[in-house]
Amino acid sequence: MIESLLRKHLISLKGYKCARDEADCADAIYLDANENCYDHLGGGKNRYPDPKAVRLREEISSYFSVPFENIAVSNGSDEMIDMLIRLFCTPGEDKVMIFSPTYGEYKVFSLFNAVDVVDIPLKPDFSLDVERAKERIKMGDVKIVFITNPNNPTGMLFPKDDILEIADANPGITVIDEAYAEFAASYGSLWNQRKDNRRIVILKTMSKFFSLASSRVGFMFADEEIVDVYLRLKAPYNVSLSDQEDAIRVLSDPSSTERDKDMIIKERERLIAKLEKLSFVISVFPSEANFVLVKVKDAYNLYSKLLEKGIIVRNRSKDYMLENTIRITIGKKEEMDRLMEVLDEEEKSALS
Ligand code: PMP
Repeated sequence: MIESLLRKHLISLKGYKCARDEADCADAIYLDANENCYDHLGGGKNRYPDPKAVRLREEISSYFSVPFENIAVSNGSDEMIDMLIRLFCTPGEDKVMIFSPTYGEYKVFSLFNAVDVVDIPLKPDFSLDVERAKERIKMGDVKIVFITNPNNPTGMLFPKDDILEIADANPGITVIDEAYAEFAASYGSLWNQRKDNRRIVILKTMSKFFSLASSRVGFMFADEEIVDVYLRLKAPYNVSLSDQEDAIRVLSDPSSTERDKDMIIKERERLIAKLEKLSFVISVFPSEANFVLVKVKDAYNLYSKLLEKGIIVRNRSKDYMLENTIRITIGKKEEMDRLMEVLDEEEKSALS
């Protein structure tokens, strides 16, 4: 079933086989992989990491209550986006569907792989245009649909029914990127609501809620067949030993990230309340993520004023429908205090 969606030449392609796929025993003498046998940094860093990231996948499995066989790990979720396109989309033939404004890498990786993009822009209220998406899917050339939930850069959650309606109408793969879902007030992963739709892939990352952006660990929940073909064809040592170990440590003691979440949400709401009072703010978009998108009178001016004071935010004004918008990531309390001071100074000069 999944096999029929894969690029034809991948069905029989054998991946690189490493010796440790065949034999991995506790006290073995490893003379198979041409590593330096001396471990200078300690902890086994002279050895290649586990290609299948078994311990980390077990930890993810117990944290999210998702079966081990449905989990695969990548070098950040960006690598998984690239790999999914390369597994399923034939360049020049298949297309990727996105919903602008959205995360930029779906388009970049598609075009990088010579796969064209079909864009079904969000409606003016930033909701999904379900009907247009379904109509366009009927043309039969869309192989992967990418939906980010909550969306980046708007921060808004799409109704689950809208996403599932598109996913069920799509005979190809639907990737639901839940990079920010852990910040949402009441969000259960759509993995548990996919019913018998085996073409739904949930994308997750350790870079946001789990506070490990430097470690480059992403993962997906997917049908076993998708996990198997990914594990067969990915670069064998794509996630380093230290990165796998860091991710295991964070997932095995979630108390710190749960505490962070409370603080981040508190600061997010404080920032929204502040922004809503400023005369140069036109609107603040509701956010279920760890950032806030705000529409202002002159985004270029605000962006450079903040930069002058050493505060770096993201000017999203070039994105579709996002003229004069700034995206602000929520920082620590003292960082938000400083941001608010600068916003107050800006307000004074705007009113004078
Ligand atoms: N998906 C979304 C929606 C993102 O915003 C980002 C990063 N900004 C990613 C994926 C990539 O995350 P990672 O660090 O895991 O590559």
